Amino acid sequence: RAKHHGLGVSLYDRRTDTHSADKLLLLAELTEALDEGQLVLHFQPEKELRTGRIMGVEALVRWRHPKRGFLAPGEFVPLVEASELIHPFTRAVLAMAMQACRRLRREGFACPMALNLSARNLVDDRCVQDIERQLRAHELSGPDIVVELTETAIMHDTTQVAELLDRLDRQGVGLALDDFGTGFSSLANLKRLPLDFLKIDGSFVRDMTTDEQDAIIVRSTITLAHNLGKKVIAEGVENAAAERLLREMGCDIVQGYHLARPMPLDELIEWMHLHEA
Ligand code: C2E
Ligand code: CA
Ligand code: CA
Ligand code: CA
Repeated sequence: RAKHHGLGVSLYDRRTDTHSADKLLLLAELTEALDEGQLVLHFQPEKELRTGRIMGVEALVRWRHPKRGFLAPGEFVPLVEASELIHPFTRAVLAMAMQACRRLRREGFACPMALNLSARNLVDDRCVQDIERQLRAHELSGPDIVVELTETAIMHDTTQVAELLDRLDRQGVGLALDDFGTGFSSLANLKRLPLDFLKIDGSFVRDMTTDEQDAIIVRSTITLAHNLGKKVIAEGVENAAAERLLREMGCDIVQGYHLARPMPLDELIEWMHLHEA
């Protein structure tokens, strides 16, 4: 083994090299993608358990790449987040999401549109200005959207983040803490920041009907959130058994393949009409 060690390392290096070259290429192509409208949003509904009503729709980005086909956000969002492109990228997502929100309004659906922001967006004043400007441009108001932030995002620079979130909160924008339980947000942050929703990460929800530890984590998170006056959204709800258990635990809202997969806007609208019927 030792004899091959050197070779192993150089092969490994070369592989990471091509890997990063490929990433650079993707990043370069993304500038073009933004100009040419290759980014598209899919939408996944969120259901309130108590009433069965759709209480929100989350916008999830996809890249319709001319050569590589449909790319999931996991394949390019981390690259974008590590570069300056995050700013035009987020602006493009905001514009598409707000346009979709307008369309839902015209179809008679008033539920808010949830958007994912990255940590980099939150340390930038322009982002909140963009949100405000685009809300006005689309004749929408704060309560028409929910901003989803991860735990890593809110622990970045706590005073600046708190100011940005307060500013959004004052306009009635909903605030959700995404992937709850996977990061390192302190309970002090939960108490201090004007968060409306905690989204329990799908990794805890997926096996909660068979894994007792996961069930305990979910149940405790629901209690914690409710005691702090926040609503709970469980993501990654894949079957009826999980939904039933979440209902028993007092969870407010569910999202996941059991209800619906993320889908293009036209499909979502058809789905919403059927669901409401
Ligand atoms: P997220 O915000 O936690 O989004 C939930 C992810 O879980 C989505 O993956 C969704 O398609 C998937 N999902 C929904 N229901 C189920 C289920 O029942 N089972 C399973 N296994 N998965 C389910 P997606 O669309 O691939 O997005 C991945 C991540 O990319 C998102 O995680 C979010 O962090 C990020 N992302 C997506 N759109 C944007 C965006 O516009 N901006 C930013 N900054 N990040 C985004
Ligand atoms: Ca999210
Ligand atoms: Ca609020
Ligand atoms: Ca998640």
